[in-house]
Amino acid sequence: MARRLTPEQARALADRVSYYRDLGIHDFYRRAASADITVETAVAEEVVESSPLEPEPTLPKAATAAKFPEASIKDPVAALRVIREDLGDCTRCVLHQQGRKQIVFGVGNPKADLMFVGEGPGADEDEQGEPFVGRAGQLLNKMIEAMGLKREEVYIANVVKCRPPGNRTPERDECDTCSPFLYRQIDVIKPKAIVALGAVAAKNLLGMNDTMANMRGRWYDYRGTQLRVTYHPAFLLRDPRQKGEAWKDLQEVMKYLGLEIKKAGN
Ligand code: SF4
Repeated sequence: MARRLTPEQARALADRVSYYRDLGIHDFYRRAASADITVETAVAEEVVESSPLEPEPTLPKAATAAKFPEASIKDPVAALRVIREDLGDCTRCVLHQQGRKQIVFGVGNPKADLMFVGEGPGADEDEQGEPFVGRAGQLLNKMIEAMGLKREEVYIANVVKCRPPGNRTPERDECDTCSPFLYRQIDVIKPKAIVALGAVAAKNLLGMNDTMANMRGRWYDYRGTQLRVTYHPAFLLRDPRQKGEAWKDLQEVMKYLGLEIKKAGN
């Protein structure tokens, strides 16, 4: 018979799953409960046994094909406006009917050298229509400032543009449906470097399925643009010990962009 979790166990389980998701581990499956297995060991074992059989996502396709109207527009402000108009009052995936207040398109300098890409809007972003304005956004602002930049100098966007209910991780089909608009934004902005914030952004931009531990620490070629992977600020709020690691990632980006590295952030 199925064993009911106590509220404390349910909370511990939810926290643990959320933690593993931030590490890039998404594949969990249920198995028959055993009388002598604890919640903690059950989660740990499921992570170890998470299925490696999920198919690799396809690599992002070039978005600069002439079929997109913005391809012939030189002014990036106008080109981004065309993409936003093309998105319209989007109903292309189920996220349009799961409580979103508005589409969160992206914000910042349309000619930015540096672009940050996150996972999707949260409650504050959904409310204000701008990415990274909540607590995680405040931390991202500090990270940007530590790099010697201002928020207005970079461009910030997400893989999905509508808030997933309960801040859940966006599903594969939702990412696949929405991310072409992100690719088009990147093609217009033409940043010198992209920082993928968290596993969802990294996996969608790079078309790979790996852990954060494996994806961090090296440069990738995102269709001609250098891309670095670091932790999502929401994860850093939950585990501030990793801020130093994130700072190492950002310092590599600074070196690449020729920005002066004054002192370590915290
Ligand atoms: Fe459209 Fe993207 Fe929103 Fe889905 S998440 S409804 S594809 S804008």
